Formats: sequence, C-alpha cells, structure tokens
Amino acid sequence: MFAKKTVKDVDVRGKRVLVRVDFNVPLAEGAVADDTRIRAALPTIRYLIDHHARVVLMSHLGRPSGAPDPQYSLKPVRRSLQRLIGRNVAFSPEIVGEEAEEAVSRMIDGEILMLENVRFDPGEKSNDPEFAKRLAALGDIYVNDAFGAAHRAHASTAGVAAYLPAYAGMLLAREIETLTGMLSDPDRPFVAILGGSKVSDKFGVIDKLIDCCDVLLIGGGMAFTFLVAKGLEVGDSIVETDWVEPAKKMLEKARDKGADLILPTDFVIASEMTEDAETRVVGRQEIPKRMMGLDIGPSTVELYKGEIASAKTIFWNGPMGVFEMTPFETGTKEVAVAVGRNNRAVSLVGGGDSVAALKKFNLEERVTFVSTGGGASMKLLEGAALPGVDALLDK
Ligand code: ADP
Ligand code: MG
Repeated sequence: MFAKKTVKDVDVRGKRVLVRVDFNVPLAEGAVADDTRIRAALPTIRYLIDHHARVVLMSHLGRPSGAPDPQYSLKPVRRSLQRLIGRNVAFSPEIVGEEAEEAVSRMIDGEILMLENVRFDPGEKSNDPEFAKRLAALGDIYVNDAFGAAHRAHASTAGVAAYLPAYAGMLLAREIETLTGMLSDPDRPFVAILGGSKVSDKFGVIDKLIDCCDVLLIGGGMAFTFLVAKGLEVGDSIVETDWVEPAKKMLEKARDKGADLILPTDFVIASEMTEDAETRVVGRQEIPKRMMGLDIGPSTVELYKGEIASAKTIFWNGPMGVFEMTPFETGTKEVAVAVGRNNRAVSLVGGGDSVAALKKFNLEERVTFVSTGGGASMKLLEGAALPGVDALLDK
C-alpha cells in the first residue's frame, strides 16, 4: 500500500543517517509544553540506534525569520528528547558547515546529534539547493519522519533527497498507511465528522470523503454555509458567501453518491463570542438576526451520537463549535466522548484544533489513531501531492 522505501529497507549499521523529524512543539518558559511530537518520533530514532546507526536529527521550530533567534532554539527539545529516550543527545548550534560536519565525524555508532533549528537558515524555506547539499554532507542516507511537515517543499523535507538515498521513517509511513487505508478500504459504516471554522479550508477533504464514507456529520462554522445553500437564514453566523454555490453542488453530489450528509438541526447561539456570553438554544430555522451559532445544539448532539455509536470507522476533523470557550464547548466535547466510547470502531482524529480539543477533554487515549500532522493530513486526504513523500525512493 505504501509505495515508498522505509528505513527498514536499508542497512543502517555504521551509517550517518540524517533524519528529518517534526519537533515543532509548543514551548512555555523555555521548556517543552507538549511532547507529543517528540514521543511520536521515538520509534524511528530507537530503531536506528538499536541498529547501530549514527543519528543526525534536524527539525524546524516555530517561524523564525531565516536567522538565528534564541526563542526558537531547539535546545529545550534536546533536553526533552534526552529524558524521553534515556541517553545523551549531542547538540550542534551550527546547522551546516565545518563545525557541524566535525561534530558528525566525531560520532560513533548508536549516538544521536541534534542540529539547531533548520529555519535559522533562509535556505530551508526557499528550498535552496546549496543549503540542501550542505545538509546532505552530514549524512550517508536521509530519512524523513516529519509527517507534519511533509506538505512543504523545504530543503530538509524534500530538497535534501536529491543528494542522498531517501527513505520514509516509521511515523511518516504509519500516518500515510493509516489515512490512505481509511479512504480505500474502511470497515462500514464509515462515519466522518467534519467541523471547524471554514468550509473553504476543508472543501477538498469533504469532496474526497463523500466518495468513500457512508455518513458525513457536519458541524462548526462550516455548517452555516451549507445551511445558506439550502436556503436558510443564519443571522450573523460565519458564512463564506463565495462557497455557497460549491456547497450546493456538494449537497447534490452527496445525494448522487448515496452518502448521508447531515447538517445540524439546532444550535447554541449568542450575540457575542465571549467566555461570559449569554447563550440560547434554537432550531436551525430560528437563528435571529444579529445572533451567531457558536456550537451545535443538544438535539444535534443526540443525533450525531447515535450515528457515531453505530460506526465501524470514524474520522473526525474540526471542532463542532468554538470549543475554546466554555459556553460553546459542549458539542465538541460530547462528540469527542462519543467517538472515544465506540470501541468497536477504528477511530482517527486529524487536525490541529481537533487534536487540541481531544487533549482538552483528556480523550486522546480513547481513540485509535491521532494524526500528528494537521495541514499534512488534510492535504493527504484531499489527494494533494506531499513533496516530502514524493521525494523518497520508490519501493
Ligand atoms: P482543525 O485545526 O482541527 O482542522 P479548524 O482549524 O478547521 O480545525 O477549525 C477550528 C476553529 O473553528 C476553532 O478555533 C473554533 O473556534 C472554530 N469554530 C468552530 N465552530 C465555529 C463557529 N460556529 N463559528 C466560528 N468559529 C467556529
Ligand atoms: Mg486549525
């Protein structure tokens, strides 16, 4: 199914293995605030050291402006990795060049060296071939395990593969296998839950899901563009006017394909989006002028819970409401709980805010698979090319 060579298809013993990981983690007060992405990279790193490779790690962190910037240093990440993996991780403040090459040449089999943030060099984001070549000088082979950055054609995610034999890491391979497997051969019924603020962000994903899922539950801000497409008035709720016509076509497509596209029947509304907003529940035909729908209502929650409970495959992306604020968190929470409760189904969750919602409600352990790549998983689902994957050796 996964058509690229992986780290398991090559003898890594004694080799300098240049590994792109996604250590773009949130920091707070100079320490790693959430180490999920570091943990996710451990299987590949452990595999490499167990097989006597010399592991050179590279990653980006945040959005520095192509120059060194201490607030985006990977040093706190190195400390966190050392603790998680239980061994020393050397650090090179230079990303490329003589000092970095020297640090690599001092390594022995089974050692780990972390390079400083690759985005401290302007050549990273511009995918400068010279910079990619200098990165390539630090390895004998290249491994990409940064699924979360695979949709970007940067020097460390794609460019470097022009100069070294390039393989997939275990996390990247698993992400792609899981997500493409869901699209091609899901256990049925396959229920997809889609929310988030904008329909424009997710249009390609909805389009793909209609082709293969049985039920599509829509929530979040995107629901209003669909409701307008059905001729309803939605007050001041978020609507993307340019997307009303495409949404109409999408409703028709779902009908033609026999996919059950379900829209919310009621909403939690308020006149302002604040923590202490006064809220009311109304049917979807009753949203008054100057009021906004900011969460799905209790009847919708019940309807969606029923669909989720009978699913064999569940994919969830996008919060059902403004879950960041207490008055509008219930819909997202209830849906997340329902997904976690169905343990006969394979459940997959993708998307930055959806994963944040799972964490907020302590439900991460309850689902089968949490994708580490927000943007990358959406690109993959809509069938767009992932430069970081395309650049790897074919099987
Ligand atoms: P993800 O990162 O999981 O893909 P999105 O980025 O598409 O999700 O959407 C998340 C955002 O959508 C959240 O910040 C949430 O507050 C917002 N949102 C959800 N429902 C609504 C709504 N009814 N009106 C406005 N914004 C909403
Ligand atoms: Mg988001």
